Amino acid sequence: MRSEQSERPVALVTGSTSGIGEAVARRLTADGMRVVVHSRSSAQAGEALAAELGGTYVRADLAVEEEARGLVEAALGRYGRLDALVNNAGISRPIPHADLAAATPQDWRRLLEVNLIAPWILCTAALPALRTSPGGGGIVNITSHAGVRPKGSSVPYAAGKAALNHVTRLLAAALAPDVRVNAVAPGLVDTPMTKDWTEAHDLWRDRAPMHRPARPADVADLVASVLAHTYLTGEVILLDGGLNLT
Ligand code: NAD
Repeated sequence: MRSEQSERPVALVTGSTSGIGEAVARRLTADGMRVVVHSRSSAQAGEALAAELGGTYVRADLAVEEEARGLVEAALGRYGRLDALVNNAGISRPIPHADLAAATPQDWRRLLEVNLIAPWILCTAALPALRTSPGGGGIVNITSHAGVRPKGSSVPYAAGKAALNHVTRLLAAALAPDVRVNAVAPGLVDTPMTKDWTEAHDLWRDRAPMHRPARPADVADLVASVLAHTYLTGEVILLDGGLNLT
């Protein structure tokens, strides 16, 4: 007979040793899920967080296809099931949009590899397990307001996030009703990635109707609600404190 413990659903949250991913890992654990914590390099922080949450930690560079696939295999090897995939890991580097030469083909490749192709590989690898999740599996892609409006840290970043928003809708249509696929598209979030983005912080404080950037926990609350919702699919939910209204 399987233990009560083994009945708890499992979530894989990529890039979950800092920022939004860490908040999502904490929130899903609080909601009763077992969480696979992942990062590219900060293994010590990952092991510590996984121990605190009673989850497990896996290191993988998602720009390397075998490592991305290995991450899903490790999660399944550890728990034997996967109910939710949160594609959160991502990279960003500010490049002025008008400076076309500054966004090199190498920048494009690197950004698309991590921000678009890696989520695709993870969705592919996780799909068979997600399909068998009782009540239906869930995928949440953390995209960006930059994938909805002509804004963001760079043109390749925004284009990659816009592509992931569209992949979200395409997969939602293709995989229903077994797996629900949604995207959460934050505006500015107070995380290590944006700590030096003074202009963006000023913009959110002065112009956004909520007069502040999001906290990682604000994003985590929405991700948890989206995963818990058994009818929602194909949505790209903008979470920008109302900046788009101004
Ligand atoms: P963060 O820098 O704190 O976290 C990013 C995570 O991605 C890290 O854990 C890192 O290990 C992981 N990562 C990066 N490259 C990787 C690779 N090659 N392989 C494996 N893991 C890799 O940043 P954050 O602000 O929490 O961002 C999380 C997500 O939210 C990203 O997808 C980002 O684009 C998106 N986002 C952030 C903001 C914001 O204002 N912070 C706004 C919109 C969208």
